[in-house]
Amino acid sequence: MPTGGSDHYDDQNVFARILRGEIPCKKVYEDEFALAFHDINPQAPVHVLVIPKGRYISFADFTQQASEKEIAGFFRAAGAAAKALGLEPDGYRILSNVGHHAHQEVPHFHLHIFGGRPLGPMLARR
Ligand code: 5GP
Repeated sequence: MPTGGSDHYDDQNVFARILRGEIPCKKVYEDEFALAFHDINPQAPVHVLVIPKGRYISFADFTQQASEKEIAGFFRAAGAAAKALGLEPDGYRILSNVGHHAHQEVPHFHLHIFGGRPLGPMLARR
């Protein structure tokens, strides 16, 4: 793991290493399509990352290259992770940074799940 996916994918990125078990994580949910774990530098009381098992660089790469089974499985897993975290009654936010305008740091597709308090405006105002 991870398997399949993009030709330009960097197998040494930190989430690839987490999937291979080379770096520990605080796991929330896992199935054949996805792994969800707590962010190392949380920006909210609950801040969880959901990553696909396959080698996809970004949301753009994932939605262009992944199979329908992988896409459906991944988004069902993200929903299951949010439910397992107990976030459904009060709500939560999901976000994915793509590329440099969005400050994507880790080149393995991931969703952020934020919750545990009112989350304020959707984007910083400037
Ligand atoms: P991005 O900016 O790429 O959307 O977000 C990357 C996220 O990965 C950041 O929120 C960062 O705190 C998190 N992160 C980076 N390295 C690690 C790590 O080794 N473990 C965990 N759990 N999260 C990490």
